[in-house]
Amino acid sequence: MRTAGLLLVAGLSVAATIDDATTKLSRDIFKELIEINTTDSVGNTTTAANAMAKRLRDAGFPAADVQVLGPNDRKGNMVARLRGTGAKKPVLIIGHLDVVEAKREDWTTDPFQFVEKDGYFYGRGTQDMKDADAALVTTFIRLKKEGYRPNRDLILALTADEEGGTSNGVEWLLKNHRGLVDAEFVLNQDAGGVTTNKGKPVNVDIEASEKQYADFELTVTNPGGHSSLPTEDNAIYHLSDALSRLEHEPFRFELNEVTRMYFERRAALEAGQTKADMQAIVRNPPDAAAVMRLSKDPRFNSMMRTTCVATMLTAGHAPNALPQTAQANVNCRILPGHSPAETQRALEHVFADPKVTVKYLGGIGGPESKGFPTVAPPPDVMRPLEEVAAELWPGAPVIPEMETGASDSIHTVAAGIPSYGFNGMALDQDDIRAHGKDERIRVKSYYDGVDFTYRFLKALTK
Ligand SMILES: [Zn+2]
Repeated sequence: MRTAGLLLVAGLSVAATIDDATTKLSRDIFKELIEINTTDSVGNTTTAANAMAKRLRDAGFPAADVQVLGPNDRKGNMVARLRGTGAKKPVLIIGHLDVVEAKREDWTTDPFQFVEKDGYFYGRGTQDMKDADAALVTTFIRLKKEGYRPNRDLILALTADEEGGTSNGVEWLLKNHRGLVDAEFVLNQDAGGVTTNKGKPVNVDIEASEKQYADFELTVTNPGGHSSLPTEDNAIYHLSDALSRLEHEPFRFELNEVTRMYFERRAALEAGQTKADMQAIVRNPPDAAAVMRLSKDPRFNSMMRTTCVATMLTAGHAPNALPQTAQANVNCRILPGHSPAETQRALEHVFADPKVTVKYLGGIGGPESKGFPTVAPPPDVMRPLEEVAAELWPGAPVIPEMETGASDSIHTVAAGIPSYGFNGMALDQDDIRAHGKDERIRVKSYYDGVDFTYRFLKALTK
């Protein structure tokens, strides 16, 4: 039966299209979300959660199935449930409502205005991740309006403080309202996704593993003195020497089963030197020159090793005084199987300066945590994903990957719920602007993503 169904779908050659009403609805919701500031500094996720809750109630969701809850009035989370037949256990779909800070003066457009320009939507959160949030709310509204009954409850949680802050919504919901969000597995839309090259589909990533986030604070102190009498022992020079050594000593190359599979499958999509290099690094022993060449691409580099980079710097107390304190934040993304404590020892070895003290500022799993285990996605998830991806992005294979950033899956996995990360928002591989200036998504990618979300949730629950 399944084979016949697939042949029929292939015969119809399904194109990515959504009707005018869905186009307008999804654009309105996206605009509304972008224009509600949800930064940690001055924003409010409760406002965004309430706006989305209202849309769902207006579409016919009973009030009891749409709730806004949180630890305080700035950090609300929305949880909505589309009731199914109960043939299978519920699925929880998560997306965060908060966004990274954005300064008007850094941007070409106002980051909190939804701007359509040159075939793109601009605004903070257009890539990370109000695009996917808006597609999910649109899809829940469509499914409700057509009276669709999935074979299991679909729970949607749009949450606070994934990017920072102290009120992580996923963690808070699991701790305080487990029954409301309990599920057989989690689909996290903040990971994986569709990669394109100048708009042409390349591959569809599904997160099967994740790096561990860790911040380290470097401090150098000194008695200081008058700047007219410089001494050899200077806090700023000690710190900058240490950071310079970090810049020039990358962590060791290392693949795991997921990244090895990633490079093996990815090589088939590449050409020339890059293809040859990917084939050369999965060999045993890996080719060192190939590793060096691939390391020049930040995406490949981050998959091949733990990375640590200086992200903040403060030093000195007066223009005419020798510095008494110099501090830096070094942010690390640690490969699975390695701990923050081990990474700290490696950093101290690189700095090679007892004057530079290194302090681990904490993370999800403590200093000895070895991070996110590698999880192979089950057929229940892979089959509908491969089916729908083949319809919307023909020729782009689904490839398991290790997420190099951090996501809320760390909380759901810690709570014992298997979690898989992907979404339908295609991003050009050379246009990743999440957390950066002039964040944007192609208009076409957004509407394809809206279409994907609907098709996928139906294929998952038919
Ligand atoms: Zn995100």
